[in-house]
Amino acid sequence: MEIWTPETSGYDDQRTGFQRRNPHRPARIFGATSAADIQEAVRYARDHGLRLAVQASGHGHTTPTDGVLLTTSGFAGVTVDPEQRSATIQAGATWQQVVAASTPYGLAPLSGSFPGVGAVSYTLGGGLGLMARKHGFAADHVRRIDVVTPDGELRSLSPTGPGSDSPDDAELFWALRGGGGNFGIVTELEIDLFEVATVSGGSLYYDLATTPGVLETWREWTTTVPDEVTSAVGVLVLPDIPAVPEPLRGKHIAQLQLCILKDLETAEELIAPLRALGDPVMDTFADLPYADSARIFAEPEQPHGYRAQNALLADLDPTALATIPKLAGPEAPAMCVIGIRHLGGALSREPEIPNAVGHRAAQYALTVLSPGDQDFTELHRSILEPWTPIGRQLNFSLGPLTADEVAEAYEPETLQRLKKLRAQLDPTGLLQPNHAL
Ligand SMILES: Cc1cc2nc3c(=O)[nH]c(=O)nc-3n(C[C@H](O)[C@H](O)[C@H](O)COP(=O)(O)OP(=O)(O)OC[C@H]3O[C@@H](n4cnc5c(N)ncnc54)[C@H](O)[C@@H]3O)c2cc1C
Repeated sequence: MEIWTPETSGYDDQRTGFQRRNPHRPARIFGATSAADIQEAVRYARDHGLRLAVQASGHGHTTPTDGVLLTTSGFAGVTVDPEQRSATIQAGATWQQVVAASTPYGLAPLSGSFPGVGAVSYTLGGGLGLMARKHGFAADHVRRIDVVTPDGELRSLSPTGPGSDSPDDAELFWALRGGGGNFGIVTELEIDLFEVATVSGGSLYYDLATTPGVLETWREWTTTVPDEVTSAVGVLVLPDIPAVPEPLRGKHIAQLQLCILKDLETAEELIAPLRALGDPVMDTFADLPYADSARIFAEPEQPHGYRAQNALLADLDPTALATIPKLAGPEAPAMCVIGIRHLGGALSREPEIPNAVGHRAAQYALTVLSPGDQDFTELHRSILEPWTPIGRQLNFSLGPLTADEVAEAYEPETLQRLKKLRAQLDPTGLLQPNHAL
């Protein structure tokens, strides 16, 4: 296994992930290529009294470590079993790698808007994907988890496999699916795949200056759609630069992001109330191979710094919704990207094997993200002020949180159970996850 220290060449590349804000500054980096390497790093950190953080692709990074950093990008294999409709994914695999391995078989994972994110961390945090209203959270479809716990042991957890009659292992299997990186370093996940070769997907981009009613129309429409429709809206002022498609440059855009598990003709009938808004300035909605599903949100691919706050909502209050174009639009003191995802459907139903995902009653998730290095705390607070959240999603909370803010991700009973398990497994706080319980 390769090891880097601040004196070694390649140290800076290895410590830096997609999120460029406040990167890790570890005393030592272990570049894992196997489960045994992960065990070695855990034991090293424990024996030297250092904290241990892990980084896959670095999209979720919030708090730098000065202890040990375990990087997993070199441990990123994906194996697909088409008969069992499952994929086995190693710690550092991104959704891009899982999608590329699955789609040749006409199968698709529950990946999200940006395939560059790490599949393991996304799933441990719940995982809200493109087909979420039909199939639920990614964490609802995990068959097996192999994990190195803070004592350095490698455990294989599943509802039916070896150890499944152990109450301790059952509790850990419950906690990891929704409780994030608080309990160990996952070496491998086995997940469900779904028979989806193509979707009807893409975005309708509207200029809010000429079509101001987009948010309200989308809100009303979401109350009518079946579970086969998963959608979101993004609102932002795009910079007037060549990298932005010409029809969007410099405009205040509402981007309706659509993934519909129906043929294109039926999907067009379903989105007719949206099309009634008028011609969009750009339209990418089409019959889309799942392999190209990144085109739905078309998010920026360049690593950069950002901060984001999130609120889970029981409904979309029209009065609060109407504040977004002004508070987060051209008059905002810094760029704000608003993302509202429609939840409900299978996301609101308990999975067959219960897990720790919180707030299934939420019907919408609202995120405000700002790129850059400034302090956005007050700005984001003012944008979320008109809303009455019922909780938060940690996957979309992209910055350091207080303990009280982390607690908002779970119902009180779930939180107590998770904290008790963390205290048992990691009494000295060896692990330094992005959102510590
Ligand atoms: C552009 C963008 C789009 C996104 N889209 C979605 C989306 O559609 N749906 C959604 O649910 N989320 C989405 N997210 C959030 C994303 O799922 C989280 O930020 C996630 O933590 C990213 O994982 P990573 O491996 O890329 O990040 P990293 O920064 O590498 O890891 C983040 C944290 O995950 C934990 N972790 C990583 N690997 C392991 C491991 N092997 N074992 C235990 N813990 C581990 C650690 O605590 C680590 O600090 C998006 C984020 C971005 C930036």
